[in-house]
Amino acid sequence: MGFVRLLPRSSRTQHSVVESDELEVGMSETEPEDAAALPTFGEVSALDELPSLEELPVAAQLEPAPSAPPPVTPVVSAPIVVPQAPSPGMTGTRIIALANQKGGVAKTTTTLNLGVAFKEMGYRVLLIDLDPQGNLTMSQGLNPDTIETSMFDVLVRKIPISDVIERREVDLAVASIDLAGAELALAALIGRERSLEKALVEVRDRYDFILIDTPPSLGLLTINAFVAATGVIVPVQCEYLALRGLVQLENTLAMVRENLNPRVGVEGIVPTMYDSRTLHAREAVEILEENFGDLVFKTRIRKTVRYAEAPVKGSSVLGYDPTGTAAEAYRDLAKEVLHGAEAREHA
Ligand code: ADP
Ligand code: MG
Repeated sequence: MGFVRLLPRSSRTQHSVVESDELEVGMSETEPEDAAALPTFGEVSALDELPSLEELPVAAQLEPAPSAPPPVTPVVSAPIVVPQAPSPGMTGTRIIALANQKGGVAKTTTTLNLGVAFKEMGYRVLLIDLDPQGNLTMSQGLNPDTIETSMFDVLVRKIPISDVIERREVDLAVASIDLAGAELALAALIGRERSLEKALVEVRDRYDFILIDTPPSLGLLTINAFVAATGVIVPVQCEYLALRGLVQLENTLAMVRENLNPRVGVEGIVPTMYDSRTLHAREAVEILEENFGDLVFKTRIRKTVRYAEAPVKGSSVLGYDPTGTAAEAYRDLAKEVLHGAEAREHA
């Protein structure tokens, strides 16, 4: 049982951190409810059951604590693979799945605000709500309970996706309550993993970016998103438990690469709900960077109540508070997503 601790990084990149005049007041150095069951950042021995880290592209900068016996146990195991073929960038449509099987990590918030940021930059953007909870649909002022045709009909009944696209702040292919039955209905179909990919053929040339909001699971809906996608962006809440799920996510992606879509990989990891005042959040980001290196976007999406206020008004945060720091954070992220693709193209 190896005890490991993080060494401080010698050179730290300047992050485009947005300053926190809008941070929620009264937030304390809170830990998850089951914090007692968690290993601390200084002693991650509970992760020993995870497989080895050797294949990570960026070696984990973990060293044994002076008093701890070797061997060093890595924090995260699965190799994160950048897409084999470069993303098409602006020479073709980029189809990005926002995925993390953990709920409440800001998948929906990131889908909407990143999409609106791309639109502000002049790109043609389509958002797809693939979550039966329909939060993305709701956040544009639509009610999933009263929507008659939705992504369910596109995936299962094969109606054209253009029939379920609503024009709001950005174009949005809507979810309805029916979508909850889609996993089951799809399971019986031949080509069940390629349903979304096929549906997108009709519209993909009309858009520069198609962003897919996925449910908090790695089921068939999320697999459909991975098969259709040119890349995956993973929002990760800045807390320790959030990091462990990344192994499972990458394993699922590896299976998709092997069998269904060889080009798909993690384009980047977005630290969300970042509260720089808590040691916990800072350490969570540090561990992410130690393990995933450049895959971690430099933009941190800070914790602020603005992100919860905007959807109530049926708006992105860029529409709700255009000059605020919360909007600016997603503009920064959009630039990073764009430049990441350019950097790979010129590599
Ligand atoms: P997911 O789609 O991963 O379940 P959501 O985007 O719905 O996550 O976010 C979960 C909740 O957290 C929502 O109420 C949302 O408004 C809120 N939220 C999202 N991002 C932030 C943030 N940076 N700071 C504070 N609250 C946030
Ligand atoms: Mg969601």
